[in-house]
Amino acid sequence: MTKHIFITGGVVSSLGKGLTTAAIGMILEGRGLKVSVQKLDPYINVDPGTMSPFQHGEVYVTDDGAETDLDLGHYERFTHAVLTKNSNFTTGKIYQSVIKKERRGDYLGRTVQVIPHITDAIKEAIHAGVPSKDVDVALTEIGGTVGDIESLPFLEAIRQFALERPPEDVLFVHITLLPYLKSSGEMKTKPTQQSVGKLREIGIQPHVLVCRTEEPMTEEMARKISLFCNVRRESVIEERDVEFSIYEVPVDLIQARLDSIIVENLKLPTNVETNLDDWRGLLEKIRTTETECEIAVVGKYIELHDAYKSIYEALDHAGFANGFKVKLRKIRAEDLRSEGTKLLEGVNGILIPGGFGERGLEGKISATRYARENGIPFFGICLGMQCAVIEVARNLAGLDKAHTLEHSSDSPHPVIHLMEDQKSLKDMGGTMRLGAYECDLREGSRARALYGADRVSERHRHRFEFNNAYREQLEAVGLAASGVHPELDLVEIVELKDHPFFIGVQYHPEFQSSPLSPHPIFRGFARAALENSQDNGSSPSPKSDVLIPQETRS
Ligand code: GLN
Repeated sequence: MTKHIFITGGVVSSLGKGLTTAAIGMILEGRGLKVSVQKLDPYINVDPGTMSPFQHGEVYVTDDGAETDLDLGHYERFTHAVLTKNSNFTTGKIYQSVIKKERRGDYLGRTVQVIPHITDAIKEAIHAGVPSKDVDVALTEIGGTVGDIESLPFLEAIRQFALERPPEDVLFVHITLLPYLKSSGEMKTKPTQQSVGKLREIGIQPHVLVCRTEEPMTEEMARKISLFCNVRRESVIEERDVEFSIYEVPVDLIQARLDSIIVENLKLPTNVETNLDDWRGLLEKIRTTETECEIAVVGKYIELHDAYKSIYEALDHAGFANGFKVKLRKIRAEDLRSEGTKLLEGVNGILIPGGFGERGLEGKISATRYARENGIPFFGICLGMQCAVIEVARNLAGLDKAHTLEHSSDSPHPVIHLMEDQKSLKDMGGTMRLGAYECDLREGSRARALYGADRVSERHRHRFEFNNAYREQLEAVGLAASGVHPELDLVEIVELKDHPFFIGVQYHPEFQSSPLSPHPIFRGFARAALENSQDNGSSPSPKSDVLIPQETRS
């Protein structure tokens, strides 16, 4: 019988609830238990797919093509949980299912209400989040902050869920903040007391409090929190800000005995002691590595770290696997227009992530050209791959007006065009080419050598694709289509031979990289960046400063 842990957050947002949830999953796996992880988000969008990255950060894509919250990326990087469309529900998605039933007449004339119909749908979503019977512990993170109006139906649903089960089957973990007041040099417990008070008002008594702090929590404070919040002393856990890396969190939680507390409370059948040796080895590398390589990420949403979360993580994984720390140079693509490619001088690698919209596109294309002409390792992802195709078409194949149909409907050379099955679509939400597709790797290609396989599966999120009408012409100037979808003949990977490292992929490899198993292409890119830094003493002299045409709109 699957046991359930519900994780809520109090006091403020951005406490790192997703990370803590993922870390709890990991430490339970460390005890030999099978976990599933799910997030319930109280906002009304059906999924984050239609939201701006500035609002929401990156959209994380699962194998089965769900566009989900970026916390699911933490879950996959920390645990072996299988994530699907049922791993992320929003208020919008819950209401959509209830309204659909109402329109069908399924409620047989009854008034449809938040309680019980919406809360029932939430409880069904919680069950759906458990992919198989052999899951020992299902973790469900509730997005938002306790006290928000929109989280109420979710909290009510988990209260009912617990009521319908034996007490040792459900555990409530509340993550809270102990703010530090500089002026008085004190940490305060009142916001925690109030947030737990809010939970208790609606009938939820947390079993465990994870207290986020900047400074160590004293024994006296822990006792006070325990007394006022009605939580046993040993279940008041400190989670202090990490020193080097977010990967310290699971180790810190084990130190605080959280795994044992959960196992005891839920009476879980395990006598396995946690073994995180590989993980600790990685942490040691993170603490001690001094070598650095500088990688430029040229993007449209560069001001917000969360917009490229999985990419930055995958770069870190690959850097550590190659014995160096990644020093990021985050470049706003539009700034390349005003300031030129001098912004890229001295970097050891250039990565262009995915994106939408025209703003910054020409800047990305100029960064691609700079990488190609100066022999700097280049990695284009999704829109970044499309930039590579446009750049090579314009500057090597002589198709100077080559463009993507996404931004230039009248280009004489639409080297990137709309996929056939996208042409008739009207709705924007959930209609891209989404999720995992297979890709055959061409013999003798760099891609095949890096993967060490002839067929791989990678996750997608795009509407536009490489236009096969230009394949021969682009191959003739050296841009090989080295990865192709087996049935549809869609080009998934392009690469240049006569270059230290120049690869563009139509898919999102960053979603399949994890700390102990870096993605092969990221790994190869990082190795090339390291070689670049060794060859050039980390300061290659640029061959050209590329002039960028004015963009028409932003
Ligand atoms: N905007 C491009 C497309 O839809 C690229 C998408 C992406 O980078 N995720 O094809």
